[in-house]
Amino acid sequence: RAKGDGRGAYRFFEMSMDVWAQERRALEMDLRAALANDELKLFFQPLIGSREHEITGFEALLRWQHPRRGLVPPNDFIECAEQWGLIGKIGEWVLNEACRQAASWPTSLTVAVNLSPNQFASGDLVGQVAHALELSGLDPARLELEITEGLLLQDTARTMDQLAALKVLGVKIAMDDFGTGYSSLAYLWRFPFDKIKLDRSFVAEMSDNSAITDIVRTITLLGQTLKLQVTAEGVETADQARMLGEMHCDHFQGFLFGRPMPVGDIPNFLISDLARRMRRESVEAAEA
Ligand code: C2E
Ligand code: MG
Ligand code: MG
Ligand code: MG
Repeated sequence: RAKGDGRGAYRFFEMSMDVWAQERRALEMDLRAALANDELKLFFQPLIGSREHEITGFEALLRWQHPRRGLVPPNDFIECAEQWGLIGKIGEWVLNEACRQAASWPTSLTVAVNLSPNQFASGDLVGQVAHALELSGLDPARLELEITEGLLLQDTARTMDQLAALKVLGVKIAMDDFGTGYSSLAYLWRFPFDKIKLDRSFVAEMSDNSAITDIVRTITLLGQTLKLQVTAEGVETADQARMLGEMHCDHFQGFLFGRPMPVGDIPNFLISDLARRMRRESVEAAEA
C-alpha cells in the first residue's frame, strides 16, 4: 500500500512537472507576444520631497496586462523575461515609454527607470538610453536609472564603462534596494552614484527605539557624507515619515504618499498636490 502510494505520488509529481513545463511554455509565448499586443503598461509611483512633501518625480513600475491572468506584477515575470532573453526588448520599451510620459510632465519632475543587470550584460544599453532621450526630448538630468547591487557583482570593466558612459549622457544613477544585497561600501566609492534608495524592509522595521532605526540613521549620514541623495522606500505611516524626516532623508516613496498609478491618474494627482501646496501657502501667508 505504501509502495503504491509512493508510486502514485511520484506519477502525480511527474504529471505536475509536465503541467508546470507546459504552463511555462505558455507563459513564454504569451510574454513574447505581450510587447506586440501592447499588453505591457507602466504604472508610476510618486517620489516626495521630505521637507515640503511636494512631488519631485515618479518611478516607472512595469505591469503586464494579461488577457486572462489580469494585471501581472513585475516580480512574477521579469526573471522569466531575463531567462528567455526578452529583457533587452522589454527594457528598451520601458525606457522609451517612461521618457515619453515624463516629457509631458512639468519640467521639475524626474522619472526613475529600473534596469536589470542583464541589460548591461548584453545589448547596447547606453545607445538605448541615448535614443530614448532623443526621441522624447527629455532633459537627461530628469532621468534616473535604478540599478541593484547584483549588477555590481558582475563587476566587469564593461559594467564600469557603461555606468561612466551613462553619466556622460547626463542621467542620474540610483542604487536601488540599498542594504539588502552585499552593500559593500567600496561600491559607493567606485561607482558614480547620485542616490541610494533604502530598502523598504528597513523602513518597515523602524520604531522609536530600535537598532534598525540606528542603522537607517547611519545610512542617511553616510549618504550625506558621500553627497548622495537618500530615498526611503516603503513609507507607509506618518510615524515613519516623521522619523525619516528627522534623519534628513531627502525623499520618500510609499503608500502613505501614493501607490503606483496608471498614467491616466497622474494629471489629477499633480493637480491635487498643487492645490494642497497653494492652500498651505495661503495659510502660511495669512499667519504671517
Ligand atoms: P523596486 O524598484 O524596489 O520598486 C518598489 C516596489 O515597492 C514596487 O513594487 C512598489 O509597488 C512597492 N512599494 C512602493 N511603496 C510601497 C509601500 O509603501 N509598501 C509596500 N509594501 N510596497 C511598496 P512592484 O511595482 O511590484 O515592483 C517590484 C520590483 O520589480 C521593483 O522593485 C523592481 O525591482 C522590479 N521592476 C519593476 N519595474 C521594472 C522594470 O521596468 N524593469 C526591471 N528590470 N525591473 C522592474
Ligand atoms: Mg526601483
Ligand atoms: Mg526599490
Ligand atoms: Mg525594493
